[in-house]
Amino acid sequence: MSKVLIIGAGGVGQVVTHKCAQVPEVFSEIVLASRTESKCKAIAEQVKANYGRDIETAQVDADCVPELVALINQVKPFMVINVALPYQDLTIMDACLETGTHYLDTANYEPLDTAKFEYKWQWAYQEKFEKAGLMALLGSGFDPGSTNVFTAYAAKHYFDEIHTLDIIDVNGGDHGYPFATNFNPEINIREVTAECRHWESGEFVETPAMSLKQEFTCPDGVGTYNIYRMYHEELESLTKHYPTLNKAQFWMSFGDSYLKHLEVLGNVGMTGIEPVNFNGTEIVPIQFLKQLLPDPSTLGPRTKGKTCIGCVVKGVKDGKERTVYVYNIKDHQDCYGEVQSQAISYTTGVPAMIGAKMMLEGKWMKAGVWNMEQLDPDPFMADLNQYGLPWQVIEEPGFDLV
Ligand code: NDP
Repeated sequence: MSKVLIIGAGGVGQVVTHKCAQVPEVFSEIVLASRTESKCKAIAEQVKANYGRDIETAQVDADCVPELVALINQVKPFMVINVALPYQDLTIMDACLETGTHYLDTANYEPLDTAKFEYKWQWAYQEKFEKAGLMALLGSGFDPGSTNVFTAYAAKHYFDEIHTLDIIDVNGGDHGYPFATNFNPEINIREVTAECRHWESGEFVETPAMSLKQEFTCPDGVGTYNIYRMYHEELESLTKHYPTLNKAQFWMSFGDSYLKHLEVLGNVGMTGIEPVNFNGTEIVPIQFLKQLLPDPSTLGPRTKGKTCIGCVVKGVKDGKERTVYVYNIKDHQDCYGEVQSQAISYTTGVPAMIGAKMMLEGKWMKAGVWNMEQLDPDPFMADLNQYGLPWQVIEEPGFDLV
């Protein structure tokens, strides 16, 4: 049906490429480009071996708009699927505008020097994309992404008005390392060390990082985990688009070993994002740390256990209060068996493919810059079931949440 250009050949890029290759009736041609072309070629070889499909590869520096424009003009894709890093969002959006190409990403833009997690820079492109007749779909991963769609689905089918939202991201997987991150270490550590913000009574309230925890028992025997309240970017768009929300919080599970290492690394300054001078060379501590840690894309074969990510939504229907939990459970080893990757990359890459499919099929095609909850959740939810991320709904789950 159409050609896509995927930019970024890390853990998520690998899964998106596999998943697009599995749906040739929609993704008729796939080009994979990244800073290091050898990583694209390695993925192309896997895809050829698994599905017999040829993937073209290219080298590009996605920080450089002219390089991106030259590549997009040469490839002429219908859209770009951006799974590089959040720092590249704006340059890729600029290149898409210049070449008349649709755009999708999985994480909001972050400036290198401040860990802000705000949509304001990308929302500022609304008019430009609308005038150009182009679509930009923001945050089409799992969280953000499927969690936004889960919320929209619950709001559409179970409520007249929603009042409380708790997004709960549990990773019950164990990779056997004392400390490793499941996706890009720099982005992951910036996120979890940032001040916590949650939505309450019409404003964001700040609290210290990791200062509130509780226990959460996942359904279907996945287990009981400590979950910590933290800020996550979908809270900004969801509270904007669902103004009836009185309280919205995001929770993530962390193991004791992860937290112990993070605390020590933070105390000695290894998670800092400001450059320091070392023997006459400027280095950014968190970037140096990334070099020392296991590459997340190598965790697949050794990660065992399941992820359980979902949304607990409370509100009213026909004048009565109710609670609904929409969630997905995914087994790390099943992901590895299918696409040679662990579940964190898998649960991000599948929604990226589905978001692109929604745009290519015209189910979600409209000019402008959109968050996932602004579009009809139903076709996306149907595809989650079909392409590897089946979900369930529990009415009145009986959770005892803070
Ligand atoms: P990785 O670090 O594994 O991969 C990033 C890729 O982008 C690498 O191939 C890297 O190239 C490439 N890249 C980085 N800078 C440039 C550049 N300037 N030009 C071209 N390519 C570049 O990250 P992940 O795959 O784990 O994550 C990818 C994205 O997905 C991130 O934005 C992350 O925040 C997001 N994400 C979203 C989630 C969600 O649920 N919404 C969950 C997890 C991740 P090189 O190999 O040369 O370093």
